[in-house]
Amino acid sequence: MSNHDRINLPRRRFIEIAAGTAAVASGLLPALAHAADLPHLSATDPTAKSLGYNPETKNVPSSKYANHRPTQECGNCNLYTGAAGAEWGPCQIFPGKAVHARGWCSAYVAKT
Ligand code: SF4
Repeated sequence: MSNHDRINLPRRRFIEIAAGTAAVASGLLPALAHAADLPHLSATDPTAKSLGYNPETKNVPSSKYANHRPTQECGNCNLYTGAAGAEWGPCQIFPGKAVHARGWCSAYVAKT
């Protein structure tokens, strides 16, 4: 190893770390931005309607959905892929749309 290489080693290592960090960040940021940009699912969407989606679980009529429990909501559903604490997030049942974290539909599956 020449003196030139020894001097540049920390600089080279810094560049490698910076490039790695940038690569990881560039992979994550589009996913986060994408989730935030999704249009909100409307309760009048035909699929949402057929599954009884309601953006507020407290407003789900228990007379119509006997299996519904007030503690069930998108935020604790296994099919919800939104970030913890986010108001809206993606759901595997409704690709390309964001559901409300306090919403509910009859496809609800408790997180295990
Ligand atoms: Fe919410 Fe789960 Fe229904 Fe998706 S499947 S809308 S996350 S209750």
